[in-house]
Amino acid sequence: MTDLYVDGQWESARAGRRRQIRNPADGEPVAEVDEAGPEDTAAAIEAAHRAFHTGPWPQTSARERGDLLLRLADLLERDADIVARLESLDTGKRLVESEYDVADVVSVFRHYGRVAAEESGRVIDTGNPDVVSRVVHEPVGVCGLITPWNYPLLQVSWKVAPCLAAGNTFVLKPSELTPHTAIHLMKLLEESGLPAGVGNLVLGDGPGAGAPLSVDPRVDLVSFTGGLATGKAIMAAASGTVKRVALELGGKNPNIVFADADREVALDFALTAVFLHSGQVCSAGARLLVEESIHDEFVDALVERAGRIRLGGPFDEKAETGPLTSERHRDKVEAYVAAGIAEGAALRCGGTRPDDPALADGFYFLPTVLDRCTSDMSVTQDESFGPVLTVETFRTEDEAVAIANDSIYGLAGAVWTQDAGKGQRVAARLRMGTVWINDYHPYVPQAEWGGYKQSGIGRELGRAGLDEYRETKHVWHNIRPAEQRWFAG
Ligand code: NAD
Repeated sequence: MTDLYVDGQWESARAGRRRQIRNPADGEPVAEVDEAGPEDTAAAIEAAHRAFHTGPWPQTSARERGDLLLRLADLLERDADIVARLESLDTGKRLVESEYDVADVVSVFRHYGRVAAEESGRVIDTGNPDVVSRVVHEPVGVCGLITPWNYPLLQVSWKVAPCLAAGNTFVLKPSELTPHTAIHLMKLLEESGLPAGVGNLVLGDGPGAGAPLSVDPRVDLVSFTGGLATGKAIMAAASGTVKRVALELGGKNPNIVFADADREVALDFALTAVFLHSGQVCSAGARLLVEESIHDEFVDALVERAGRIRLGGPFDEKAETGPLTSERHRDKVEAYVAAGIAEGAALRCGGTRPDDPALADGFYFLPTVLDRCTSDMSVTQDESFGPVLTVETFRTEDEAVAIANDSIYGLAGAVWTQDAGKGQRVAARLRMGTVWINDYHPYVPQAEWGGYKQSGIGRELGRAGLDEYRETKHVWHNIRPAEQRWFAG
């Protein structure tokens, strides 16, 4: 009944509104939570503003902040089973995947716990002995953190960890569909000793609870992960007060398979690339580019395996992937497939809801392969964010690169070949923030993550991820001030 966390207190939504959360695997209610409106977000912003400008947090040492993040990582590890279960109930994803996600979350907090204090600036040799010149990092201020539903706590951790490491305060607005792990995180932050007002949580939809973060002058930075259209709206709204904006948006990621690849491995990963979490992954390899000479053999085998993927709920141990996150999202994926077929794509498998009565109440959609696609179709250009693979062919290395780069997005991509030189050449020419060679999906918190082109602005993870949350200041100290007499007057 009190799910909003504002100024160190658990509160109800001021307008008394509540939202029912449903498990996408069976449509059953999971729980009801408070639904914040603009007045709740304004109160949370005020708390974060006060904590930044008058509280002790921004002045704590980087070491202390790092220690808090390390304590938090330990608490998350202690509660891993609870957190994984909450994540699976909200998202419908398999428990084993939620368990991996929680382990990733722990390593993100550990990463920033360690790097927080590693580097605090530099001294510049100006050549002038009467000057001390330093470049220092300072927190940006109040951060609005807005996150999506596909990897709820992981996306939150990619923002909260560097934000706190750098000494900022924040208002977090997770997806309205998946609030529970964010609530648990705030409880653990409280237990870790985070001062009141430094971290605040508002739950609710984008227009009501999220939008005020982009316009309020007390917010200094908005960091958003989600869809392109929302990202554009946030960027436009933030321009009114020239806020810093960090955006992690969508992707339409090419997975390029050359004829000289290890085909069995490439095939296996082509399935994981697109069907993991039923395609609800921003870096999903949803656009297969296969060398023409192996197209038939490769795609026939892929379709055969895609048709055997077992769907099921979070606690079905035989399930290989789960439902889509909401009815609305499934409707969008259905419409996307229909548009592709209308444009001339050949449906090779899936394309419908499963007919298994045990899955009838969940928001499932069968793994789908659309063959004979071309770059000018909406299905190769638009993100479906569902279990839909489009297939295109190429004949040469140049053509593969040209097709892969023919996109407004530039988040991630992969290339499969046993010719190491070719792999490196293609990787160098792909206009994407992450490129895998003979692999798909792995990431490490030490390496930067982010998109080229309309996939985003700024970086998460790595050291650049920390820099998104820091201002950089040059302090020039003249230690022997004297009259200059520039103008003798
Ligand atoms: P979404 O844009 O609909 O919503 C994301 C968040 O923004 C939610 O919390 C939502 O409530 C909020 N929101 C909506 N309108 C808002 C507004 N006007 N002001 C402020 N907040 C608002 O996206 P989604 O459907 O939750 O997530 C799917 C999208 O996220 C996909 O496009 C996917 O590619 C992208 N994504 C990208 C990455 C990445 O790392 N680049 C990671 C995960 C997801």
